[in-house]
Amino acid sequence: MNRPPVAAIDLGGTKIAVGLVNDGYRVLARAESPTIADEGVAGVVERLVSAVEQVTASGGLALKDLYGLSVAAAGAIDSERGIVTLSPNLPGWRDIHLRDMLNERLGVKTWLLNDAKAAALGEHRFGAGKGVSNLVHLTVGTGIGGGIIIDGRLYTGASGSAGEIGHMTIDVNGPRCPCGNTGCLEMLASGKAMVRDALARLNAEGKSLLTEMVNGDLDRITAREIGLAAEHGDSLASDVISRAASYLAVGMVNLANIFNPEMIIVGGGIANLGDRLLDPARRLVKERAFPVASAAVRIVLARLGNDAGLLGAAYFAFEGDK
Ligand SMILES: [Zn+2]
Repeated sequence: MNRPPVAAIDLGGTKIAVGLVNDGYRVLARAESPTIADEGVAGVVERLVSAVEQVTASGGLALKDLYGLSVAAAGAIDSERGIVTLSPNLPGWRDIHLRDMLNERLGVKTWLLNDAKAAALGEHRFGAGKGVSNLVHLTVGTGIGGGIIIDGRLYTGASGSAGEIGHMTIDVNGPRCPCGNTGCLEMLASGKAMVRDALARLNAEGKSLLTEMVNGDLDRITAREIGLAAEHGDSLASDVISRAASYLAVGMVNLANIFNPEMIIVGGGIANLGDRLLDPARRLVKERAFPVASAAVRIVLARLGNDAGLLGAAYFAFEGDK
């Protein structure tokens, strides 16, 4: 105990969130800024640097007082070498040595990991999965990320890329995914998939409450509007959610059979749909997974919200991937 705080960063495609986290895992100060990924790597690095400086100062510290800096970034990450290999949400990011770049700019020891793995670590250590040794964590937002905890430790695989659950093939004839394949879970059950499905149905079937909610400007429809419309009894929106939920359920049947986890945790923005999203999964896992696997698994919502990534990143710096 009593190590100095870590500046933990959640670097997403639209937002940079930074938290100053102490070794009791309390968030002491926060800063946020837009990513503006279109401006390229250098611009994003500048915003990361100033967000870290800002959060450190507002915690009453200087950079040299930090234990370190831990970055949870969207995309394929090589944690050992500190490289963002490729990130669909950060255009132009390919083999970017982000850890060393930040280390040189700020003079602070730096760690780098995938954002969905950080969220899994956070929920495992401090959230819904506390005390659970074997679990799978899904971050369902615009895309779908995953993190796998086996025997209490983050499973990273042979070369660090394990847990890409969003790119599990669910339908070989399904929609094309930016990863190059077709019918990935992310293309069928994420926020992006729901919006695509809602727009297709609106074009085919005409009006729903959704059209009114965005004053006819269909570009403004997000998963949030779809959830609200469903709550108000809109059948088109309810169908869209049911369809995504049933695909997510298929993914969970596979996860239950492969990993035999005690828990599957669902976090991310889409988790706000709650049982509307999880009940179909609970039903389908009972119907389709091996009885021994389905009897063992609880399918639950994440507890930490956006803090899962920050706390997981801080944990990664303080304790490694234990
Ligand atoms: Zn894919």
